[in-house]
Amino acid sequence: MFVDLDPSGTHFVGFCPFHEEKTPSFTVYPETGTYFCFGCEAHGDVIAFLMHKESMTYGQVCEALESYLFTNDLFPTS
Ligand SMILES: [Zn+2]
Repeated sequence: MFVDLDPSGTHFVGFCPFHEEKTPSFTVYPETGTYFCFGCEAHGDVIAFLMHKESMTYGQVCEALESYLFTNDLFPTS
């Protein structure tokens, strides 16, 4: 997994993969499919990001985000 993400309400946060940091400021918004880093202001389409980083297909990313919204688990182990 590219980054540890913790559920935080309707979004989740983790350490930014784009810059070094000691407190998580990388925020992903599953409902809009976007991410934003409050540390370095990196932002973009989380679907394209996961497809590139995790070698997932568009369908796999959509499924992961959908299941996250219901289970707060981005990458179900099953
Ligand atoms: Zn960052």
